[in-house]
Amino acid sequence: MSQIIPSNQKIYDNAHIATNSGQEIPWTLNAADNSISVGLEDIKRAMSLSETSPFENEFLPLLDKPEQNKFFEYISKLFQGEEPAPIKVCINKFNILSYWLISAKKLSSTLIAGFIKPIFICPNTNDLISYFQQLFDSSHYGILVTDSDTKIILCNSCFERSTLYDVSDLLGKKTSIFSASKHGRKFYKEMWEEIRNKGSWSGKILTKRKDGVAIPQQLTIQKIISKDNNVFFFGICSDLSRALDVIDGTQRGGIDLLTQLPSESLYKNKIDIALKILPKGYGLMVVSFSPSFLEENRIEGRKILGNSIAQIQGQIISGFIKNEVFSIAIPYPKSSDSSHSLAIFDTIKNVFEKIKLGANEEVYDVVTETTIGVSVLGLDANSSTRLVSHSLQAMYEKHITTNHRVCFFNQSLHDKAKSRIQLEQTVAEAIREKRIDAYFQPIVCTQSWKAIKYETLCRLTSAEGEILNTQEAISVAEDLNLISELDLVVAELAIDARKQLSKIHGRDIEICFNISINAGKPIKSLFKNVARMLRKHVKDLPYITLELTESAYFNSESSNSEILHRLRKSGLKVAIDDFGTGYSSFAYLKNGNFDILKIDREFIKDITLGSHNYYIVKMITELSHTLGVEVVAEGVENEEEIKILQSLNVDLIQGYYFDRPKPIDEIDECDFESLTGNLKTELKHIHSNTELTYRPTSIDPEVHLVTIKEIFDSTDFTVLPVLNGKRCVGYVDRETFNHHCPISLGTDKETTRDLHSLNKPASLMMKTKFVEIHETFSHYEVKEKIRNGREFPWIVINDNGDYVSMIDNHSAIQYLNQDCPIR
Ligand code: C2E
Ligand code: CA
Ligand code: CA
Repeated sequence: MSQIIPSNQKIYDNAHIATNSGQEIPWTLNAADNSISVGLEDIKRAMSLSETSPFENEFLPLLDKPEQNKFFEYISKLFQGEEPAPIKVCINKFNILSYWLISAKKLSSTLIAGFIKPIFICPNTNDLISYFQQLFDSSHYGILVTDSDTKIILCNSCFERSTLYDVSDLLGKKTSIFSASKHGRKFYKEMWEEIRNKGSWSGKILTKRKDGVAIPQQLTIQKIISKDNNVFFFGICSDLSRALDVIDGTQRGGIDLLTQLPSESLYKNKIDIALKILPKGYGLMVVSFSPSFLEENRIEGRKILGNSIAQIQGQIISGFIKNEVFSIAIPYPKSSDSSHSLAIFDTIKNVFEKIKLGANEEVYDVVTETTIGVSVLGLDANSSTRLVSHSLQAMYEKHITTNHRVCFFNQSLHDKAKSRIQLEQTVAEAIREKRIDAYFQPIVCTQSWKAIKYETLCRLTSAEGEILNTQEAISVAEDLNLISELDLVVAELAIDARKQLSKIHGRDIEICFNISINAGKPIKSLFKNVARMLRKHVKDLPYITLELTESAYFNSESSNSEILHRLRKSGLKVAIDDFGTGYSSFAYLKNGNFDILKIDREFIKDITLGSHNYYIVKMITELSHTLGVEVVAEGVENEEEIKILQSLNVDLIQGYYFDRPKPIDEIDECDFESLTGNLKTELKHIHSNTELTYRPTSIDPEVHLVTIKEIFDSTDFTVLPVLNGKRCVGYVDRETFNHHCPISLGTDKETTRDLHSLNKPASLMMKTKFVEIHETFSHYEVKEKIRNGREFPWIVINDNGDYVSMIDNHSAIQYLNQDCPIR
């Protein structure tokens, strides 16, 4: 037989690559005597061995055990009458690696005949190493090798690039560091079981990169066993993040690979768990929507949206189901109305605001147009399955006939949503037709009790002449992106009114108005518009305050606030509104972006001495004053609140106590001195505590009864404090003293025992339970303690806890009766 490949034909560094034109070497197998006949010389030649080199005498020993098994299996199939596809076997002998294609036919019940043909011959192992290296260094697929414990031994640079790891980060680490914690433990367990049992696994999977981002990969893991039975795992993977169409519609381990969100059953499982641990006072709703992206944007759009949903912080659960629907289960704090409609609307709005943050404009626009189906736990569903299916039903049926995009499965929520749509129309119309009025509420100084500023509050009127609820109307105007327009109109009205208000009061009155940052446009352009409007009123700037609520402005370092910064230099003031609610944080107190802080009514309402709110307001006020910020208390409704706020040094007070917001022609000169006439005298005494207290002779714990008797006999003190050093440890009052002092003492009937008791020390007589009060106490604290039935005497202490003086019932009662100090 002739040589298949010329021995000098060298391809790829000395390698001999047999091509399809390689000669076929005939072979037969005779079952009668179990003999295989094949041209061994031809094989030897094909392997480029010289005539004289030693070679096997038979074919079978050329094959390793696994290859022999493959060969036997092939033969047995042939004898059984099947027509199996040709097999490839490897001959690894004489330092030469070669691959052969074997094909054959059954000629009779005992005879098989066919051809054996070389397909790859590598005549030395050095070459093999070079091939391996080149394959290993491929820039198209990543390679990772681990030991039998899945500890990483090696990876190629393509793998490093796609996972952002450096090989040195990985050596010795377990492959579990790539787990994107999305597929769940069961998925990985099954995968490794398959690899251990069947020798390999292949599929699509999400892999976590070093930066935490999960990327889709096509991965094959191959188990490899060395001659000495060591096991290795060989992973070959390609990054699919640029081939998203390949993973579109694919699920692995309960995860949709494109959106990386749980698919239906895992999603429902998660909801079931959430239902079990839902905190008291919380409801849960499921919101489903299927954005219709343009076909060419669909894959990218879904991926981005999935990503942005996954990034929402908080307790939400999300899923991608039916291969087209995004679904989110959201807990919400129940509100006071029976269907919790306000809380539900708000929660939906918030979640979609958050989705907006993570998505690009294109994706968000599509989401904005999408119909949203909502199902609510307890109202229309009680299980994850129902919740999900009802939300889908509401979404597909577009329950609401109008074009509004939120559709509730529950009828009453529906109706509420509908009335919201009506309100939207009314508000839009009122703004369009300029049915906008300004009302004014005084802001009163706690020193002079005069109104020194007014806040402008807008009032919108419906076509029927009904004044709309301002809070609601503002929120709707924000949603409709009409708020900036409205704010500018109100601002002009406010600045106009300032002159008239000043005239009414006979002095310069400052004016405040609200600017909503939640206006659906970049803050910068919003401020630009405000600045443009204010340019016409430069002279008024020192009398104008902008009230802003959102954190966006106060958080920002420079870019947003630059425009306002300039205006502030010309005298404009900026107030943080509703401080203490929502977004506000102490962090931005220090950045100096504002001049006035308005404490929300939430902290003012029913404030009492020593209450939680009391200390909050105290702290806010003290901190603000340190930073040169003026403090306004909002929503003050009664005298008690005023007294406390005044004692806390709040600068200004706004609230119904002084006046409700009114149209300008109903405002008169009235200052609030008459209203606060009584208040003023009371307030004057707040810190003049010394007049209420007195200092009777104090005694040591060792002082004897006889000494105490002398003090009581010679003074009208009712109580004597017992001091251990500077601390008060108890007191002896006349009643206690009488109890310990025998009646016969000092009389004729005096006994030895009586005389003995003269030595009794104060520590054995004193009462040790008493009320402590700090030396800076206020009038109200005294009243409060009396109202709460705290018994006298009270021990007045300083910051160190040392005794200062005391208050007994006589001094307190006299003080309060006359409302003027005694002693
Ligand atoms: P705000 O800026 O916190 O205004 C104070 C709100 O509290 C006003 O409600 C006022 O009438 C009310 N209020 C004042 N004193 C008391 C009190 O003693 N007790 C109670 N319970 N409430 C008191 P109003 O006028 O209904 O306005 C509601 C909100 O609407 C305002 O809250 C403000 O955030 C917004 N708003 C009003 N006008 C405008 C405007 O022109 N533009 C913008 N962007 N928002 C506005
Ligand atoms: Ca305000
Ligand atoms: Ca406010």
